[in-house]
Amino acid sequence: MMTKAEYVESLRKLHFDLWMFGKKIENPVDNPVIRPSMNAFAATYELAEDPQYEDLMTVTSSLTGKKINRFTHLHQSADDLIKKVKMQRLMGQKTAACFQRCVGLDAANAVFSTTYETDEACNTKYHENFKKFWTMVQDNDYGVDGAMTDVKGDRSLSPSQQADPDLFLHVVERTADGIYVTGAKAHQTGYVNSHYVIVMPTISMREGDEDYAVSFACPTDAKGIKLILGRQSCDTRKLEEFSDIDVGNKVYGGHEVLVIFDRVFIPNDMIFLNGETQFAGMMVERFAGYHRQSYGGCKVGVGDVLIGATALAGEMAGSSKASHVKDKLIEMNHLNETLYCCGIACSSQGTKTKAGNYLIDLLLANVCKQNVTRFPYEIARLAQDLAGGIMVTQPSEADYRNPELRPYIEKYLKGVASVPTEKRMRVLRLIENMTMGTAAVGYLPESMHGAGSPQAQRIMISRQANMEMKKQLAKAIARID
Ligand code: SF4
Ligand code: FE
Repeated sequence: MMTKAEYVESLRKLHFDLWMFGKKIENPVDNPVIRPSMNAFAATYELAEDPQYEDLMTVTSSLTGKKINRFTHLHQSADDLIKKVKMQRLMGQKTAACFQRCVGLDAANAVFSTTYETDEACNTKYHENFKKFWTMVQDNDYGVDGAMTDVKGDRSLSPSQQADPDLFLHVVERTADGIYVTGAKAHQTGYVNSHYVIVMPTISMREGDEDYAVSFACPTDAKGIKLILGRQSCDTRKLEEFSDIDVGNKVYGGHEVLVIFDRVFIPNDMIFLNGETQFAGMMVERFAGYHRQSYGGCKVGVGDVLIGATALAGEMAGSSKASHVKDKLIEMNHLNETLYCCGIACSSQGTKTKAGNYLIDLLLANVCKQNVTRFPYEIARLAQDLAGGIMVTQPSEADYRNPELRPYIEKYLKGVASVPTEKRMRVLRLIENMTMGTAAVGYLPESMHGAGSPQAQRIMISRQANMEMKKQLAKAIARID
């Protein structure tokens, strides 16, 4: 396995065509806007080095028998699925941000089982391709991104009906050695911190969409890939002279990228789906299912930090004994643990796929994610309620560092006399960061749209809910035919 230091060094060897704020970024590793996201990704390596987390963070590979990072594991049991969720909660607790590496893990498990079933039906060789690729990933402990979401253009039209054919990523040329692909994937979490990317279709495909039913892996810096970093609210605070208190979370963060493929060549042995439209839906459903499970871990860990920060803000303001404050903290915990229950439940009911790895219970994973589209917003609302308005109106760190202003800020922003004002300012900025700043991208809108928007889960719930069986139950009790 790679150490954290080796991981950081390995990223320096990647050569991206990366843009941010209209300028080309030559060194993302040391860029102050991007660095916190790299630190969060690197924590997946760092924690795997720590003996106290060995059981959660590492596991024996089903492919090679070697010890690997769990972020590269093909789940071999329901217990593996549970440990994945526990690992994600731990990671969320340690970073209070999106640590990004789960997307590739979820893509790998979905592609592993889908390629097996595609080969069985279509006499293709995709599973072998994938196993070879993933063995290389495990052996080198690479970071892998998973790219599903196309930009989608006119939502009422299928991929092949779009006015611009590139609005869904597709094959533009087939040669004896491989394929050329063009298109774009949006919201790509952690792309710049990853060595490889697994690309998958974004929706089920019909006849006529063969060129769009494509899945493959390639190096993240492959020729023809252009990257534009998504901006986050408050991101430029990281560039300010005093960028400690005001950023809220100095060390960790996340990032998303618009990834543009312009005739990128994919050799045959890196292709996992190429025209078999009937298997695009299976790949989408399984990837989405795994990532909906993931949120029952990562968002819960981030929620733990937010709940802790809210409790501290109350203590520092002297309000922690008020009954409504206690009750709101109970409510926050209740909501957060409900998400965890869903993550553990869909894992514990996991079943073996034909390929041999384990798949979560899809109905329960979709229920998990549907709750994630709601509860973090309520937890954030309660955090803002208890933090008070000073969370967003307190003076900047630059004011605090100014000797003329500092005595006034020390005096008038103080809550409980024994707590230094700076500590209170830090906690309030952390709550601001998680509910409105850079980390809110991961905690709120990503809870809404990541792993699929709410309606996507409702469709899956309606498909999986087995209404016929429920009607039969009612008929039997009511004694009607
Ligand atoms: Fe992992 Fe959560 Fe980030 Fe998705 S949102 S990559 S599950 S930390
Ligand atoms: Fe996500």
